[in-house]
Formats: sequence, structure tokens, C-alpha cells
Amino acid sequence: MTHNITLIRGDGVGPELAEATRRVLEATGVKFNWDIQDAGVDIMETAGTPLPPQVLESIRKNKVAIKAPITTPIGTGFRSVNVAIRKELDLYACLRPSKSYAGVRSRYENIDLVIVRENTEDLYAGIEFEEGKPETKKLINEIEKISKKKIRPDSGISIKPISKTGTEKIVRFAFDYAVENKRKKVTAITKANIMKYTDGLFYHVAREVAKNYEGKIEYEERLIDNMCMQLVQKPEIYDVMVLPNLYGDILSDLCAGLAGGLGIAPGANIGKDIAVFEAVHGSAPKYKGQNKVNPTALILSGVMMLRYLKETGAADRLEKAVAKVIAEGKEVTYDLKPHRDDPTAVGTSQMADAIIKALA
Ligand code: NAD
Repeated sequence: MTHNITLIRGDGVGPELAEATRRVLEATGVKFNWDIQDAGVDIMETAGTPLPPQVLESIRKNKVAIKAPITTPIGTGFRSVNVAIRKELDLYACLRPSKSYAGVRSRYENIDLVIVRENTEDLYAGIEFEEGKPETKKLINEIEKISKKKIRPDSGISIKPISKTGTEKIVRFAFDYAVENKRKKVTAITKANIMKYTDGLFYHVAREVAKNYEGKIEYEERLIDNMCMQLVQKPEIYDVMVLPNLYGDILSDLCAGLAGGLGIAPGANIGKDIAVFEAVHGSAPKYKGQNKVNPTALILSGVMMLRYLKETGAADRLEKAVAKVIAEGKEVTYDLKPHRDDPTAVGTSQMADAIIKALA
């Protein structure tokens, strides 16, 4: 079967990573019909927008996309293209596995954690009111009237909506992922002792959902501050973690750090029937066009895509090939060498070549 996939080349180091990933994915023997799309700052001048409508149309049509990083332009009035794609397509689940690979320098071994982050609600919903604006003053007055609590008049306000609907969807996603991937436990993480009506609601809904998986998947709860310490001290006791948007964003970087950094951290944004796969890292503009950065994170996002497409054999072989190249430590990029200025480091495309060789 040939898979129709939207390939978004991104900007900064994006196009180099997209090309390396495309070549590696093709070398697995799986057949792809690529619909190559451009988005990001490089096409803003010609397209008038960093996210031309045909990019979203292509993803809607193909249902699966792999996306290289895209810069968030500063001072142009455009919000993040990455956030816009997630919102437009209702990609409510952000899935970020963190796994140790031999050869990646880290303070920890045997990390095997999965973050499931809610992607559409919480303080990231973009409902914000600027300090000093008339509508902000109006809102402050209303809140003071209703809540009988004082807010300083020179405050900015960000709204944190957390719904039963959104929470149920994300917690179900976490449990279903745990079942499908033979994991043992889901930990729900919030600050419900302080935010009773948002984070408290998240727990309440999570407990109800967890009842459907009793006997199959264990369920537990942790507070986010405690969880940060626990993950640093004993990451081996955790498995799948489900969190509202903001905590999920922060904790997924912590977990990427435990496993060895951004160069190897893959991710996916998944909705009801659409999925967009992307690395956790950004467009690293200072390395643009230098054939320098590590393609592993986007290639491992490609491994996640293969699993989503039920190409399990190809996914296993590709992950093994990546692991082999990293473990050998020869044909790897600068960030995987003992010293960052190691002259034996290879470039993005040469590391992709080594992975292709290891696949054979
Ligand atoms: P970044 O992840 O692009 O880079 C930070 C540093 O991490 C780099 O300078 C580099 O030293 C290292 N790094 C990142 N990726 C690497 C790789 N593959 N191999 C080796 N080293 C790597 O973060 P930033 O500088 O904060 O962001 C740059 C731009 O990317 C911003 O505009 C930001 O908004 C955007 N961004 C996009 C995404 C996305 O597309 N999903 C995600 C995060 C940031």
C-alpha cells in the first residue's frame, strides 16, 4: 500500500531535516506518495503568510503529515504556525516519548517515559487580556463583582479553560495508548490542591475514565511540583503521564533532558482522524543551510508515523537502525560526540546515509 503523506519542509534547518527524513523513510521499503508543502518564514514574502491555506488543505486531505520545524516570526502579528496547525485541525493530543539510546550522553539510563499533553485548552488557549486596556479593566470589574475577590487594577489576565470534554478526550487517549503499547500505568499530573475547579476537574474526569481500564492499566495522581522532583530522582517508576497543556509542555522538556536532549526527542500531534508528526526541537536558525544538526528527532518522529500507519515492521527496523548508528557513535552529528567541536562529527545528510546503510 502507498501512503499519501503531507511533508512540510519548514524553515531554518527544517528543509535539511525534512529531506534526510524523507530519504530514510523511503529506505524502509514502505511506499509513500509525498505531497511536499512549504510553510514558515522563508515563504512569507511570496505567500503573504507563513501558513498558506493549501498546507492545511493538504493535511486535511491526506490525514497524515510529517512536519519539519517552523520559526515563530517575532513582531509580525503572526502567532506560531505550529500552534495554528494544532488548533485548526483540532490535534488535541500531543504525544512525546522520551527514551534512552545507548551512545547518547545523559545522566540517566533506561529512561522510557511517555508524555501525553492536552493540546488545545488551558492557559495556551490564547485568551489573554493586556494590562491597561479598557476590556481588561471591564473584565477585572466583572470578576471582582462575581468572585468578591480583589485583582490589582494594573494586572494582565490569561484565562485557563479546562473542560470535561477536552479532559475526557485526552485521558482516554492516554489510556488507549497505554493499552495499545503494552504500558502498565497512567499518571495524571496537575496542581489540583490549588486550582480546584480546573485541575480538580481534570482529576475528577480522569478518575471516571480510569474506571474503564481497571485491571488493565494502573492509575495514579501526582502534583506537578512533586512530579518534577520525582522524575529527577526516580524516573524509572513512571510510565505514561497525562497532563493539561502548560504542565505537559514543561514536563516534556524535562523528560527530553532526562533522555539526552532535544536532538533525539520526537513527537506527534494527534486528533480524531488526523496526525502531524514533528520533532520537539525548533528551527535552530543559526545552523540553517550548514548540514550540521541532528536529524534523529525528526526521523524518530517518522518512526512514530510508521507505527501510526500500522507499518510496525518498518518502524521497528528503522528504530533499530537509528539506535545502531547512535550506539556506534561514528557517523553522528556534533551533538552526539563527546565534545561539540569533535572534527569527526558528520553532517545531517551523512548521518541519514549511515542510518540508511544500517537499514540494509
Ligand atoms: P531550537 O530547538 O530551534 O534550538 C535551540 C538549540 O538547540 C539550537 O541552537 C541547537 O543548539 C539545539 N538544537 C535544536 N535542534 C537540534 C538538532 N536537531 N540537532 C542538534 N542541536 C539542536 O529552539 P529555539 O532557538 O528556542 O527556537 C528557534 C525557533 O524555532 C523559534 O522561532 C521557535 O519558536 C521555533 N520552534 C518551533 C518548534 C516547532 O516547529 N514545533 C518547536 C520549538 C521552537
